[in-house]
Amino acid sequence: MYVDLLELEQYRNYERLSLKFDPGITILYGDNAQGKTNILEALYLCATTKSHRGSRDKELIRFGQEEAHIKMYLVRHEVRHRIDLHLKKSKSKGVAIDGQPIKKNGELFGFLHMIFFSPEDLSIIKNGPAERRRFLDLELCQLNKLYYYNYTNYNKALNQRNALLKQISFKPSLKDTLDLWDQYLAEYGRCLIEERERFIESLNDILKEIHRQLTGDKESLSIGYEKNVSVEEYEKAMRDRRETDLKYQSTQTGPHRDDISFLVNGIDVRKFGSQGQQRTAALSLKLAEIEIVKKLIHDTPVLLLDDVMSELDSSRKQYLLDSIREVQTIVSCTGYDDFIRSRLMIDRIYRVENGRLEEITV
Ligand code: ATP
Ligand code: MG
Repeated sequence: MYVDLLELEQYRNYERLSLKFDPGITILYGDNAQGKTNILEALYLCATTKSHRGSRDKELIRFGQEEAHIKMYLVRHEVRHRIDLHLKKSKSKGVAIDGQPIKKNGELFGFLHMIFFSPEDLSIIKNGPAERRRFLDLELCQLNKLYYYNYTNYNKALNQRNALLKQISFKPSLKDTLDLWDQYLAEYGRCLIEERERFIESLNDILKEIHRQLTGDKESLSIGYEKNVSVEEYEKAMRDRRETDLKYQSTQTGPHRDDISFLVNGIDVRKFGSQGQQRTAALSLKLAEIEIVKKLIHDTPVLLLDDVMSELDSSRKQYLLDSIREVQTIVSCTGYDDFIRSRLMIDRIYRVENGRLEEITV
């Protein structure tokens, strides 16, 4: 699949924009703060209804405006489709596929698959478990509608239970209602654990080989699922830790406490890895993500590379460029020399300047 055209109206620093993409590589280059990431963010929004940086809808609307529109044309199994997003300041957004409004944002998931790769992804191993869980959830929600359903319900139930734990401290009679929330959490939580387990296992197989090649056979990488609780012990663990939950007024058990471990030559790189080792392992993870998505969706995803090239040394850069040959890639960067050096064919290049784009011929 590939994105053909993006149209923006009153979105971020764009008053109006119509931008054509190449099915191969499109490069957006320009100085800082000109609007490169804003374009990648708009594309990601069309695939997931969410901003990759977690911005709220009203922040996406151009300063001083009430609404914004994003329109994206894409080609999927040789058929052209349109996705419309209508962002409003104080109401929830409207989303339509081929002119048909969708009722729940989840309906859009999986329609087109985007992978966002930013310099922050290279810190995923150095950073805390929340970011590693975010990696799992963003990917699994796009891959699997059922996961998205369980994930949203799990989080709703978790918020309700945590609110209840607070209320119980001044109204102890509410304690009995905890059982019901425990049941919900166990039901949705189990599905999340099973899917995460499967996903990490398949990712591990692919990632091992990528990492071996990336490090010239020097390192062997494996990832593991560090689950907070197993499917079998879920309900018992909830019961056993109930008093602790009441004391801390928050739920201590469940997949919202999961993590992924990264072992390089048997050593936990989260704790003991050098910065370079951590970043290379993160790159392997991201490359493995592209491969696994290709395999699972029987199509190619669209890759959004936000300024990552400048973060990699020349051999890693070359490896990345070699891995994305068949995937539509939209790249933001402050200079495009690397691409000219590494690619036989340059597809499309735009210069981004203060919310305006100009096509460059090389
Ligand atoms: P860098 O190379 O530093 O990453 P960039 O080209 O990726 O820069 P963006 O993040 O795309 O930059 O754009 C940032 C610009 O967009 C900033 O100048 C910011 O003020 C502007 N901007 C962000 N949100 C809005 C908005 N809602 N309305 C108008 N302008 C906005
Ligand atoms: Mg940027």
